[in-house]
Amino acid sequence: MACSPTRVVTLAFLSLMPAFVCDSATAQVSGLIEFSESGRLQRGIPLVSLASEIVVMGRDGWLHSIDPLQPETKFKSLEGQYEPLSAPELRNQLRAEFGKDFEVVATQNFLVVQPLGRGDRWAKLFEQSHRGFVSYMSKRGVNVRQGRFPMVAIVFPDRGAMYDEFKKQKIDVSRVAGIYSNNSNRVMTHDGGHLTSIIATVRHEAAHQSAFNTGVHSRLNDTPKWITEGIGQLFEPAAVTTSTTASLRRQRANEDSLQVLKKSYPGKNNPEFAQAVMNLVSGDEMFADEDHVMDAYSVAWAMMFYLAERQPREFAAILKHTAMRRPFVTYQRDERRADFEEVIGMNPYEFSRRVSWFLESL
Ligand SMILES: [Zn+2]
Repeated sequence: MACSPTRVVTLAFLSLMPAFVCDSATAQVSGLIEFSESGRLQRGIPLVSLASEIVVMGRDGWLHSIDPLQPETKFKSLEGQYEPLSAPELRNQLRAEFGKDFEVVATQNFLVVQPLGRGDRWAKLFEQSHRGFVSYMSKRGVNVRQGRFPMVAIVFPDRGAMYDEFKKQKIDVSRVAGIYSNNSNRVMTHDGGHLTSIIATVRHEAAHQSAFNTGVHSRLNDTPKWITEGIGQLFEPAAVTTSTTASLRRQRANEDSLQVLKKSYPGKNNPEFAQAVMNLVSGDEMFADEDHVMDAYSVAWAMMFYLAERQPREFAAILKHTAMRRPFVTYQRDERRADFEEVIGMNPYEFSRRVSWFLESL
């Protein structure tokens, strides 16, 4: 298992966010609409309308980006209220989408699409991961609400089939065992290898899905990556949701991240570690840097693990603060840093020292 540079796929509009303030450029669309995408008629509610892009939340939980200037784009307003699809409706839709070689297994929180005859191990894994997530967060005072949509997990028969789907959805990733896609709100993985080798990745992606569906993160705003990826990394070890005593803290640690940290930032209070913490607090660039992406995931893990284990009140507070920010607004560097200092109660350098001591104590 390995971290990957781009596990959470964000919408195109995030890069357009500064343009959102330009009201004169917006198309006038609101309320329930019907629109066509890939030749299929769908219903949804527009969340943001720009001259060149309308972002619509579909009844199935997808975030669609529609270009109103394209001649083939068709949409019209409808009477009535927006309602998410019920689990049986969504199940039927998934059956139609994936066809006779797949089955849809329903659990309390999930619809798992898998090749025929794979039993219930995937459904159990997703359900257990989600329950573990909810219990872990609740214990630390994090607000966890019931999601609006049944969570969908797609298990492809092998890597190739999974990558064909990524291509179809224009998801540009390589060397991954699975992803959570913010646009489709789905986890996608495959059953073509040994489950043990991809299980940590699946737990990581499932944690993203749980977080984005329970209000721990918002799907519509710009959450700092050290927070979203720190959460993903946090849930990779199985012991995170099964062992709760302080004496077993070491088992809850992400071993891969620990090894990366030891190698990249040896010793206590390494100034480069402090600099990495500062970089992650202020911006997401480190995640886009091929040479430092593993460091970014590992430092993000250390920051969130420290907060979760030692300062749960601040852990809950930073999650709440970032989830409540206004949607579709870019989170500027100065603001990220000022919010961090206010919510955590110290500057990033002081914080990095505490995280460093904590890592030494493991
Ligand atoms: Zn991730």
